[in-house]
Amino acid sequence: QEKGSPENPYIIATDTTFAPFEFANQAGDFVGIDMDILEVIATEEGFSYEVKPLGFNAALQALESNQADGMIAGMGITPARQEIFDFSIPYYEAGAQFAVLENSDIQTLEDLAGKNIAAKTGTTGSAVAEQVAAEYGFNVTLFEDSVNMYEDLQAGNSVAVIEDYPVMAYAAKTGGIPLRFIGEQMEVTQYGFAVNKGRNQELLQMFNDGLLALQESDELEAIIYNYLGEEN
Ligand code: GLN
Repeated sequence: QEKGSPENPYIIATDTTFAPFEFANQAGDFVGIDMDILEVIATEEGFSYEVKPLGFNAALQALESNQADGMIAGMGITPARQEIFDFSIPYYEAGAQFAVLENSDIQTLEDLAGKNIAAKTGTTGSAVAEQVAAEYGFNVTLFEDSVNMYEDLQAGNSVAVIEDYPVMAYAAKTGGIPLRFIGEQMEVTQYGFAVNKGRNQELLQMFNDGLLALQESDELEAIIYNYLGEEN
């Protein structure tokens, strides 16, 4: 059966919890900006797919080992990743930032000296945290999943987390986690859809065609607005 047909859908890997880009809502449906973009594009371009919420790093590995055909996970287009993956045109821009609990006495990155901070394996946030860890004297603890990262913060093991700004702003607004941002946004990247280098070029082409149409019709903006309102 042809790839992308209902009998042989494309396998699309994603993160488990990266609201509002992908997450299980209260009804248990797996939704989000990435899921809406993918759904609209697939309908428009006429391909079938199956989403696998594996976690960010597991999704990277699934894509690299061809267990997944594509990946959409609020994934930043970075030069390092471009060596192993082919990316679509960008659909969003975000930077990573540190945040602490609102009532924390930490005010600056310098206050993180000697403390633990939480980051997610394989992300641009974890990479930047590891780059500046020696400079600020903190330890980086890696988690496979954002949920575990915030649990570690709330349990007091980590005093700060690093994650993409819009995701934390959304968590603070809707998830009841009282966060305060410290430092500046770092590692600003464009989000893109990825396939393994040189593979699934037809899927990548369809994604790009569909995304262009979404941008031109302002539907992309509407999808993002639907989740993030004014704060995008
Ligand atoms: N945008 C970040 C990255 O590309 C984080 C993505 C994520 O955690 N799902 O690494």
